[in-house]
Amino acid sequence: MFSYEEIKQIRNQFPILKTNETNSIYFDNAATTQKPVQVINTIKKYYCNFNSNVNRSVHFLDNFTNNYLELSRKQLKYFINAKYREEIIFTTGTTESINLIAFCISKFIKKSDDIIISHSEHHSNIIPWQVLSQNNKANLKVIPVNSEGELNIRVFKKLMTKKTKLISISHVTNTFGILNPINKIIKTAHKHNSLVLIDGSQAISHITIDVQNLDCDFYVFSIHKMYGPTGLGILYGKKKVLDKFPPYKCGGGMIEKVNFKKTRFSGLPFKLEAGTPNIAGIIGTNKALQLLVNYSIIKINSYETKLLKYAIKILSNINGMKIYYNNSKLTKILSFNIENIHSFDLGKLLNNYGIAVRTGTHCAQPIMEYLKINGTIRISFAMYNTIEEIDIFYKYLIKCLDILR
Ligand code: PLP
Repeated sequence: MFSYEEIKQIRNQFPILKTNETNSIYFDNAATTQKPVQVINTIKKYYCNFNSNVNRSVHFLDNFTNNYLELSRKQLKYFINAKYREEIIFTTGTTESINLIAFCISKFIKKSDDIIISHSEHHSNIIPWQVLSQNNKANLKVIPVNSEGELNIRVFKKLMTKKTKLISISHVTNTFGILNPINKIIKTAHKHNSLVLIDGSQAISHITIDVQNLDCDFYVFSIHKMYGPTGLGILYGKKKVLDKFPPYKCGGGMIEKVNFKKTRFSGLPFKLEAGTPNIAGIIGTNKALQLLVNYSIIKINSYETKLLKYAIKILSNINGMKIYYNNSKLTKILSFNIENIHSFDLGKLLNNYGIAVRTGTHCAQPIMEYLKINGTIRISFAMYNTIEEIDIFYKYLIKCLDILR
């Protein structure tokens, strides 16, 4: 838990929270988090002082940049406790990480094989598997959710057979913030020799991740959701699995030798990282990791949980309030609807009072269709949000409801 002084200190590191002229409240952290000054300054310093490409030249700037880039890879390895540096692949985001895996794995998916996802996935973790299943004539199977929004593990166990080649599931759902029982899922999947991909987009800044302990085959996330720059993602994959992957994109940086007869590809991680990477972003990431390590994920988790519980408590007083879902599996995200009020109308009105919330289907239309709703209002917390902000939000929420009702 953070002290009052620590929260002040944290907030001071985020320029947007100070310079924001409208004094707005930012509760859309599940979409992207704000950036601390040390990330912004590091990116600026790279462009001002040592901008160069990586792995291309022998000059001092290239060496400098390369060292910084590999330092970030090393820090990321420690951050998620990967076994080898080569297991950390830089991508443009979770979306590309999942697409990369789907592309590379398609070679091993045969007609009538099964791929399993859940009903609550983000579109990024649905469509690549839908396309792959259609192309390879495989089956896409879906784990249903129960009335509490939790995965139906009984059905999941029935879906698993020797035909299951991959299960791809979010660690925390982006719609409702539900923590999925991934330990159980990974163990069951491995008993059936299936690979497991965990989409950690909504968990990475909130839960300590240990990929060796989890024993997942892949863990993917976006850096912009953990106080780092946009346009950068991580694909963690077990070395023995990634070693079997064919190249995903082809071009500079991923080859050992090219001639017109045959091209010899580099080993990991470069085999899967063709072209110039997002160097500035990768270098900036180091500072985002430092922030999370310095304040401790465990403390961040308990502080964000306190915010969430407080928000649930006061929002529950509102007439016609439906919270998805008021249970112990929730983390840092609170999704709700209010009877006879459209989420867009409420979101737009709240915006007039300088409060940023997310409305709509949150890139997860299948679960909305299943619940027969056209969306929700989603508030999501980060380490810099406060109880006072939740009180202000509540005050204006009541004002908006007076207007809309
Ligand atoms: N998966 C989940 C659970 C998400 O919440 C998001 C983004 O909101 C994504 C995937 C896609 O992330 P990105 O757009 O950074 O690739």
